[in-house]
Amino acid sequence: MIEIIPVGGYSEIGRNCTLVKWKDESVMVDLGLHMENYIRLTEDEDVPFEIPQSTLIREDAVPDLTAVSDELKTVKAVCISHAHLDHVGAVPFFANKIKAPIHGTKFTIEVLRKLVDDKKKKISSELVSHPENSKFRVSKNLEVEFIHITHSTPHTVLVVVHTPDGCVVYANDFKLDNAPLLGPKPNYEAMKKLKNVKALILDSLYALDPRKTPSESIAREMLRDVLLGTSSDDKTILVTTFSSHIARLKSIIEISKTLKRTPVFIGRSLAKYVDAAKAAGLGDFEKEAEMVRYGSKLEQYFKKTRKTTDKLFVVTGHQGEPKAVLSRIAKGKFFPFNPEDLVVFSCKVIPNEENFVNRSNLESELKNKKSRIFTDIHVSGHACREDHREFIRLINPENVIPTHGDLAMLNAQKELALEMGYEEDKIHILKNFSKIWV
Ligand SMILES: [Zn+2]
Repeated sequence: MIEIIPVGGYSEIGRNCTLVKWKDESVMVDLGLHMENYIRLTEDEDVPFEIPQSTLIREDAVPDLTAVSDELKTVKAVCISHAHLDHVGAVPFFANKIKAPIHGTKFTIEVLRKLVDDKKKKISSELVSHPENSKFRVSKNLEVEFIHITHSTPHTVLVVVHTPDGCVVYANDFKLDNAPLLGPKPNYEAMKKLKNVKALILDSLYALDPRKTPSESIAREMLRDVLLGTSSDDKTILVTTFSSHIARLKSIIEISKTLKRTPVFIGRSLAKYVDAAKAAGLGDFEKEAEMVRYGSKLEQYFKKTRKTTDKLFVVTGHQGEPKAVLSRIAKGKFFPFNPEDLVVFSCKVIPNEENFVNRSNLESELKNKKSRIFTDIHVSGHACREDHREFIRLINPENVIPTHGDLAMLNAQKELALEMGYEEDKIHILKNFSKIWV
């Protein structure tokens, strides 16, 4: 029997962490932050490392590893599925407690190195990077396989934990993009080959959305449509998107070239992911774009660069965060913001009250300045219901464990599995620490 211990991210969105255990050996999959709770604590992603672990745990910003302290000595490997902070962001806080190597793909490990450096802390665990579509032994009885899948950040994998009693597939997060812009299509062949899949742990963020998530190539077309199909001569253009979305950043650079504008990336978070992309062999953005790495250097940059209309600025602050670069530019802090200057939101508002308020304040500010605002120029990195159906059929698990969603989303995933013929007792809506055996 395989034991599945949900540690974080069950019946909540964020701080993903699951233990897959066979006899006295286990693999920890993901160790992430709960972004909303974390940002509330720090008001900023760039948290000083001094925040005590007990505070992070008390405020539900990280998985509560103290509740599974007895299990931690069984952990033979920590395997990270991808580079988003809700999957990797808690590693710097806990790595020294777990005493096991941290495994990930190249981009994920490079992002993790940056996070550790940022916090000026050394971690004793070995960081091991593996190619996508590889298999490696982590203990006498356990093997882990990384299968390439598409998402909104590069080198995302399904983490498959192979045990002598069958395997567990961890698919959190993913989409099925058949025309991706960076890297190949999902490795359907490897998925089909999986045998004796005891359980599938399944991203449910868009389980309520009855469609197939469009490809990232559609997002590129949406951006082209807005940026190439709108008159912008003598106007300043600002685009904001997720810093970790390397494929999207590449599309923006391509479009800048067509517009004969120099792309300028502004902000520490963008610099961090651009550096990780370079180290992971995903391209050298600094050859094609100017970089202003620190907010503190902005004033100086704009003093030197008086003309803004031959550039395309890529900035942080898509959720309207008041301290981020976009909000500060919108207030006219660095250069006069003129009527009909363009602001393109290549993102979606992550739904929580704080973001809604911040975005609404930012958009009012921009409207007062008579900016042209384009919102939702974006497609998601998460699968929807029709992808889930495809995926469950492909993996053919004995048990389905919906995760990464609120109760309504998890129930929608359950409904789908029931519709596909699963018995009720093979679908498990878990709470953190409510372990099961499969
Ligand atoms: Zn993700």
